[in-house]
Amino acid sequence: MNPTSRYKILVSPLEKVEKPLLSCIQKEITAFFGFQTRVMPLFQDLDFSYNPARDQYNSTTILQGLSEKLPPEFIKVLGITKVDLFIPVLTHVYGEAQLQGNASIISLYRLKQDLCSETPREHFRNRIVKESLHELGHCFNLKHCREKSCIMHYCRSTYDVDQKDYGFCRYCEIFLQDEFKRLAASI
Ligand SMILES: [Zn+2]
Ligand SMILES: [Zn+2]
Repeated sequence: MNPTSRYKILVSPLEKVEKPLLSCIQKEITAFFGFQTRVMPLFQDLDFSYNPARDQYNSTTILQGLSEKLPPEFIKVLGITKVDLFIPVLTHVYGEAQLQGNASIISLYRLKQDLCSETPREHFRNRIVKESLHELGHCFNLKHCREKSCIMHYCRSTYDVDQKDYGFCRYCEIFLQDEFKRLAASI
């Protein structure tokens, strides 16, 4: 048995998130990373990360909170929030993650912009899943990728998010498999 298989990935809604969306994210995480998932809120009050001058929430501070509260049976956590996130050097972020750490987060706030009129719900969901896989990818030690169609490509706009495929490029996939082997050897 793969020693990593007793670990799960936690999906932690930071406020109320629709069930079908959570199920979809869970399914894709298992498909791409091979870990079972669970949904459980670790906390919901984000006041500790609020910056009144910017009227936004500091994503790095929330990541620390998620990491500290993560129960030991989980190898990684993905927080999902509807508030607008920032890191000090940028106006906003779609998400953030600890590189090779255990915490990641995405915000739905800006992914809602410029949705297509025919299937807006599906379009929105696709963006959310792409950004979820991207941030968790960082937790599995993947860096930004120059390939525009790769999930690990850095996105400045929702247009960039839409250009990405639903998957890792050949190189990122190899790095990911290497990281799984490293994890299996270390736990
Ligand atoms: Zn990134
Ligand atoms: Zn790539």
